[in-house]
Amino acid sequence: MKILVINSGSSSIKFALYLMPTRDLLASGLVERIGENEGALHFKYDDNKIDIIRRVLNHKDGLEAISEFLLNDQYGIVASEEEIQAVGHRVVHGGEKFHDTVVVDDAVKDTVRELSNLAPLHNPPNLLGIEESEKVFKHAIQVAVFDTAFHQTLPMNAYREPLPPEFYERYGIRKYGFHGTSHSYVAKRAADYLNKDLKECNFITLHLGNGCSATAIKNGRSVDTSLGMTTIGGLMMGTRIGDIDPGVVLHLVEDIGMGTSEVKKLLGKNSGLKGVAGDNDMRELSIRYEQGDESARLAIELYTYRIKKFIGAYMAVVGSPLDAVIFTAGVGENSPLIRRMVCSNLEPLGIQFNYEANESLRSSQEVNELSTTDSLVKVLTVPTNEELEIANESFRMLQHQEAL
Ligand code: ADP
Repeated sequence: MKILVINSGSSSIKFALYLMPTRDLLASGLVERIGENEGALHFKYDDNKIDIIRRVLNHKDGLEAISEFLLNDQYGIVASEEEIQAVGHRVVHGGEKFHDTVVVDDAVKDTVRELSNLAPLHNPPNLLGIEESEKVFKHAIQVAVFDTAFHQTLPMNAYREPLPPEFYERYGIRKYGFHGTSHSYVAKRAADYLNKDLKECNFITLHLGNGCSATAIKNGRSVDTSLGMTTIGGLMMGTRIGDIDPGVVLHLVEDIGMGTSEVKKLLGKNSGLKGVAGDNDMRELSIRYEQGDESARLAIELYTYRIKKFIGAYMAVVGSPLDAVIFTAGVGENSPLIRRMVCSNLEPLGIQFNYEANESLRSSQEVNELSTTDSLVKVLTVPTNEELEIANESFRMLQHQEAL
């Protein structure tokens, strides 16, 4: 059986096709610049790459191009459309409505549409991807996997903000959390690696990509996470600010006279690593850091100091012995410098970092251990794979339907 995973954005559609239950990646790709004069299609299967420049009118056109590629006899990826039994969609915001993955029906689509007020840039194109996929992949069930669902287990003291209750009740202002698919996937892989039942595992997972978030996981469930109602709070990120005194925002508007769209751009696109050092690519910043560049040093020190603080805070939140601190995503999996700066001097917290193992670790698809054998808390790198997790979830939904 084959499962297609779709991540539909405003002007692009990413996809991956998996053979299940073996989890083999059969094909993947990206359709970008949808609606522009020159769209681009990038397809991959086995060791082959296909790049096509042509106009992609809209999301339906993009999905049809993906379908034609997958069904093309020449490539032999999918023999007939019926082989694709499920299409799993990434949906950014499930609000308080979705605690788990769901099979899409009209009610689900209506709710995703209603939740667009919480994620105006993401939910509408995610929904469009679902609606068009229903037309193009008619034989498949459509499945929605929410970035927020894993964090619906947060206790009230973690998700409520100290505001008058009507702000929660009328406007839904609370912490929802994001990157849930990634945090959940790496937690499961770490539990497998440790040969433990996930329900007995306590972790701090650090998703450090362009977007960054930390999650406290107790008995396999998310009990706190650093992203809140939107995707700009918590850890310092590539271009997003992370936590800041809210009075600063008022100061920017009232005293400095910035408009709301300017402030939005500053906090979301021109802060974080890019704001401090002019670049959000950690590879470049690391080179500059090693060369003694002052702004790169400041950016990396701010970035790692904040991650350290979250580790301390989340240890207190979990309140039971921690099995592991887990690094994942582009920076977490690949940057010895960042891992070293985050994990140095954490011995009082039971973390004995293995500096040698850290420096010698190269990009890896496996789980790797970066703590010494006598460390009370392990430090692991676990490569994330959100597409595979969406395929796993879609497969689970198919099995559930068959069992009914
Ligand atoms: P996203 O999915 O959020 O766009 P990724 O998880 O792909 O992001 O992570 C992107 C980040 O990972 C970039 O800042 C990039 O510089 C960083 N990165 C990738 N490889 C390395 C590396 N070898 N060393 C340091 N940083 C890296």
